[in-house]
Amino acid sequence: MTEKMVTLVTGAASGIGYATARHILRTRGDHLIFSDRASKLADASALEFGGIYIPADVTKEEEVQALYDEIIKVHGKINNVIHCAGIEEKNTPAIDMPADVFRRTLDVNVTGSFLVARGAAQRMAGNGPGSIVLIGSILSVVGYAGLSAYCASKGAVLQLAKAMALELAAAGVRVNVVGPGFVETPMAHSLRNPTTRQSLLAQIPAARPALPEEVSRLCAFLTSPESEYITGAYIPVDGGYIAR
Ligand code: NAD
Repeated sequence: MTEKMVTLVTGAASGIGYATARHILRTRGDHLIFSDRASKLADASALEFGGIYIPADVTKEEEVQALYDEIIKVHGKINNVIHCAGIEEKNTPAIDMPADVFRRTLDVNVTGSFLVARGAAQRMAGNGPGSIVLIGSILSVVGYAGLSAYCASKGAVLQLAKAMALELAAAGVRVNVVGPGFVETPMAHSLRNPTTRQSLLAQIPAARPALPEEVSRLCAFLTSPESEYITGAYIPVDGGYIAR
């Protein structure tokens, strides 16, 4: 019998992370570690999933280290990380963007990705196959007016993943980026406004947003042996958005 994999999902209280934790549990039965920043929502979602819930703010080095220490204490290993925690600033032109909003967006999306990926890599390297999935965005590769901080952060996530993929390939650890388009989650507030929704849909070749589960299925594939030769890749799930 093959040993169960140990899989961490961050940002698991909501949206893509929530759907991914549920998908992994239903389809693979991995040992799932559910993480998010501490909140009532996270408490409620964790209860629903059962298993291990470890709150951690991904911008705090000591909390991310404690998260991995606890996983190793309980399971003795970690095989996969699907890092879904992230934020988006309120739509604001760069000329009006307060520096603290810019810094905060980069802190959560870039430093958070670095700390989560570094912590995983430290424990995976040389311990059998490992897979780290970072959630980028179509805005890792194309621009979007009004979201300069988010665009800068998601471009950085892609470059972080490429550099780490090169560093870790020989040690058996893969690092890939999933690039969702517009996904029906609490983050996608422009999809909830009927006017902006229509104009967004008009830009998507598939003429609809993604469901979070459609992103989850790619995350599951990238953390399975079926994708063992894929590393350093950016894979879109965007209904054709960046092909235009
Ligand atoms: P969401 O807001 O539904 O979920 C994000 C989760 O991240 C929340 O549960 C939140 O508590 C958690 N989080 C935020 N800051 C954190 C921190 N400092 N520490 C720990 N957890 C933190 O959003 P979502 O749409 O599910 O987004 C998930 C990922 O997908 C993000 O990286 C986002 O940028 C990316 N993404 C989303 C879309 C979209 O249209 N929804 C498109 C492209 C990429």
